[in-house]
Amino acid sequence: KVRVRFAPSPTGGLHIGGVRTILFNYLFAKQNNGEFILRIEDTDQTRFVEGAEEYIYNCLDWCGIKEDESTRNGGEYGPYRQSERKSIYRQYAEQLVKDGHAYYAFDTSEELECKRQVIENFRYDQNTRQTLRNSLTIPHEAAESLVKEGAPHVIRIKVPKDEQVTFTDLIRGDIAFNSSEVDDKVLLKADGMPTYHLAVVVDDYLMKITHAFRGEEWLPSAPVHILLWKYLGWAADMPQWAHLPLILKPDGHGKLSKRDGEKFGFPVYPINWIDAASGKKAQGFVEAGFLPEGFINMLALLGWNDGSDQEIFSMDQLIKNFSLERIHKGGAKFDYEKAKWYNGEWVKASSAEHLLPYVKNILTDKGIYSDNDDYLLKVIDMVKERCILLTDFHEQAAFFFEAPSKFDTDAVKPKWNTDKEDYFNAFIAAIEANKSITSADLETTFKTLATEKAIKVGELMLPFRIMLVGGKFGPQVFEIATQIGIPETINRIKSALA
Ligand code: GLU
Repeated sequence: KVRVRFAPSPTGGLHIGGVRTILFNYLFAKQNNGEFILRIEDTDQTRFVEGAEEYIYNCLDWCGIKEDESTRNGGEYGPYRQSERKSIYRQYAEQLVKDGHAYYAFDTSEELECKRQVIENFRYDQNTRQTLRNSLTIPHEAAESLVKEGAPHVIRIKVPKDEQVTFTDLIRGDIAFNSSEVDDKVLLKADGMPTYHLAVVVDDYLMKITHAFRGEEWLPSAPVHILLWKYLGWAADMPQWAHLPLILKPDGHGKLSKRDGEKFGFPVYPINWIDAASGKKAQGFVEAGFLPEGFINMLALLGWNDGSDQEIFSMDQLIKNFSLERIHKGGAKFDYEKAKWYNGEWVKASSAEHLLPYVKNILTDKGIYSDNDDYLLKVIDMVKERCILLTDFHEQAAFFFEAPSKFDTDAVKPKWNTDKEDYFNAFIAAIEANKSITSADLETTFKTLATEKAIKVGELMLPFRIMLVGGKFGPQVFEIATQIGIPETINRIKSALA
């Protein structure tokens, strides 16, 4: 049975790279009738950020992604928060020590800091460990009793010298590292907490993970993990790895970072994220006006395609068509204009019923409240072609609810209504008695009157639109007029003429 996991560290808001990793995990799990596990990797308590875990769940919910096992759903292999699994890890670290693949290290942070001061690029590794204070350099019994007495210590992996560490990545193919490039990573910290390296291997094993997808930035950690799988005697159960390509800055220069949102003026978080320490707010796709469908579609195509020209995919289609083989090896440049394009396509393709709750929220936020759903649904159908972001519905639809407060008179030259006043007064008189007129009949009335008055229809249309809408935009003007109703149309003409 396929079992995949997303294993975030709750160190802040989840940026879109993380959400794409979630998505690819989820698509693969669903495609294979497998399970998607969410595990919280919070062993580094110094980097813990309040609210980060909840934020991840909010993102999952908004995206429409349901995890099978997690801290909130529970599951057979729980607990799913590593800090609650603390007692599990030490035995494995001790086993590694016993088997000669790890050792106790007693160096204080001051001692190590000293080394860093005098040795350039100091690393705790095959070359330096002989000169440091650990169970490899001090007599066995002495080390044992130090540990028993509770002397502060960590457990480090004993990385072998000059050994080839190889594995096959599902995206990148065969990968080889020389173990000499790898330092003796800490596995168990002085406080008894495992580090990421130990915890990720132990938990992937205990949780029976079959495939581990994660960002390319984790590739340098892979040799440590491969060694641990081997040393713990679990090599046969090791998951298959897939390191996903990075999402790059729009100019292709480097990884898209959490700070890039502010720099480039587009969202990089799914939902607004407020940094507790600085109070700084980073904008989210939700608040920018994205539909989950548009967001998911955009993310899926960042580094993947199905081999055809098709660009629009629903979640169900993605589950069907997704394939690891078609994930690109190179990084994917993030293009906000393209992201908006996906959203616009989804806005157009969505039914008014589907858009209704979003549009209601957006209008309410702007102080426009309507409980007439039939009216709203008609408005949505009339304007959705003109909207790319959901927030565009405010500009495109507000005039259906409120008379314009100002008119773009510059759009109509030279004098926008004085010479047409006579016409519009006659028009009011012509429609006043007829409160339920179709837009086609209204148009006929409008044009017939123009002919009678010997004014070109073309000179009247734009002023009429501006009277109703305020500016040079919106759907067909006679449809607007019938939608807001004849009395309101008359009101608006009157106040424009006043
Ligand atoms: N805890 C790691 C992170 O924050 C997980 C990396 C992995 O999936 O192995 O991304």
